[in-house]
Amino acid sequence: MMFLSRKNTKNHIIFLFILCCVIFTSGCTVRVSTLQKMERVGNEVVEEIGNVNMFSDEEELKLGLNFHSFYIQDQKIYNDPIVENYINTLGQTLVRYSNRRNIRYTFTVIDTNIVNAYAAPGGYIYINIGLIRKANTESQLASVIGHEIGHVVGRHGMKQMTQRYGVDYLKETILGKDTAKVSNEIYKIATDLLLLRYSREHERYADSIGVQILYDAGINPQGAVQFWEIMQGMGKREYTTVEKMLSTHPIHSERIEYISSQINTLPKKQGLRSNSTEFQRVKQRIR
Ligand SMILES: [Zn+2]
Repeated sequence: MMFLSRKNTKNHIIFLFILCCVIFTSGCTVRVSTLQKMERVGNEVVEEIGNVNMFSDEEELKLGLNFHSFYIQDQKIYNDPIVENYINTLGQTLVRYSNRRNIRYTFTVIDTNIVNAYAAPGGYIYINIGLIRKANTESQLASVIGHEIGHVVGRHGMKQMTQRYGVDYLKETILGKDTAKVSNEIYKIATDLLLLRYSREHERYADSIGVQILYDAGINPQGAVQFWEIMQGMGKREYTTVEKMLSTHPIHSERIEYISSQINTLPKKQGLRSNSTEFQRVKQRIR
């Protein structure tokens, strides 16, 4: 794809945004002033359309697959079966402790040092090798993956896209049978969504789901706090263009506070692990 040429960093960055969760995202709230409202007369339930899921799992999976097929053509996939297998095994283990287990999750390791992870609709989760390098323990890495699973559980990708484009457009174009049209529309969306990010509500939801998943899976959820402390301590020099754009929202401390409060609500549990020999082996390989 010309648009996603590896040499074309700008477009590459733009496309990253569409894939929804940027780990650096501050919870920057998308403007809701123009949002349509859905009103259910009778019981006075009023919800913003951004919080309503209007798509079946099948439709979400189709859209996610369209994205994934388009996206990975331009990405440099980290080509080490041991690393891939480790991330997939860890990811699938965490999925088993989520409350959306009926879809197939796909974990892809991207070969870039940008410290980032993100989720596309339909269970497509991308973890940059730079993020794995930055994590000191398995629980820190797992906390990020758990957070991304949280976005999939909350169907946040679909909700964001619905909010931005409307149900009709998505159903008629992106989910249509005309593959050339689908491809063209995805291109348009990618160039248009530069500033679209998850809401604070979605970020908190994903943080909260991530903590619960780790706890239930027997992994120390303090890894989430530790990871954000690492992010907080990253010097400006290490920030990339994408990170600089997002780091204008000083939210690390707020996020750490929220995650800590979530952990504090959990009953004490013995034997929560922070590390594994598999993680250490992967760290040796990617050094
Ligand atoms: Zn997120």
